[in-house]
Amino acid sequence: MPPAFVLKPAGAAAALALLWVLESAAPMFEGRRGRAGHDLANVALGVMNAALVSLAFAWATLRVTEWARAHGFGLLRVLPLGGWLSTVAAVVLMDGWMYAWHRMNHRVPLLWRFHAVHHADAELDASTALRFHTGEIVLSSLARLAVLPLLGLSVGQVLLYETLLLPVILFHHSNVRVPPRLDRALRTAIVTPWMHWVHHSERRPETDSNYASVFSFWDRAFGSFRLRDRPGEIRLGLGIADERAWRTLPGMLLMPFRAHAATSAEAERRPGAEDRGGPHDLPHP
Ligand SMILES: [Zn+2]
Ligand SMILES: [Zn+2]
Repeated sequence: MPPAFVLKPAGAAAALALLWVLESAAPMFEGRRGRAGHDLANVALGVMNAALVSLAFAWATLRVTEWARAHGFGLLRVLPLGGWLSTVAAVVLMDGWMYAWHRMNHRVPLLWRFHAVHHADAELDASTALRFHTGEIVLSSLARLAVLPLLGLSVGQVLLYETLLLPVILFHHSNVRVPPRLDRALRTAIVTPWMHWVHHSERRPETDSNYASVFSFWDRAFGSFRLRDRPGEIRLGLGIADERAWRTLPGMLLMPFRAHAATSAEAERRPGAEDRGGPHDLPHP
């Protein structure tokens, strides 16, 4: 069997290809221009981040999880759970951490500055699932190094969680017109496109909702669940004036340091953006 570092990119590529076909056949948001360039830039950023994580954090993750195991450290080792129950708890705990971390990314200005690169994409599709600024990846990897020993996850459980996460985030970012009934059924368990499109809305109260990654119950449990009756009417992105100009790999990498003026200038004259806490801006207030 090929190793995980071959299977994971191969699986992601296959899922992206399948979603590309579905997005072409039945898009929710129509009239896209320059889709190949948009997707290539997003994928390039994702590949770059994956390489960085493999080089800089895989070894450290292995070391901290092994240290926790050797010392009997972490919540999962204290809880009286054995076998598969422990594995289920590990996946749920990891997803709970992802929910909390995502909420922090919307609250803390420094974190938002990087996370906004993900939200700035005004033409959301499956490739947006790979569009995270390298700064966000580094910060989340560092935070995870502290959290993993506290939770007591093994490196195998981390890999299992990431294997579940990847197809779900590719799917819920996709621009596929998922039938309402199918979406409703799926979102009883997982985060679906109907949920995550709302998270990518230009309207701040909607952006600050639906933070969950894999399981949808986090948003229901913590009061951040939100839906639109007609999701096709959602205006996606952050209302950045020349958003298309920032879609290159260098543009996305520079965005947290340069986009402030461009964003605020556009947001100030855009009607309907002031629902709560003022218009979108970099950083988030
Ligand atoms: Zn977000
Ligand atoms: Zn997203």
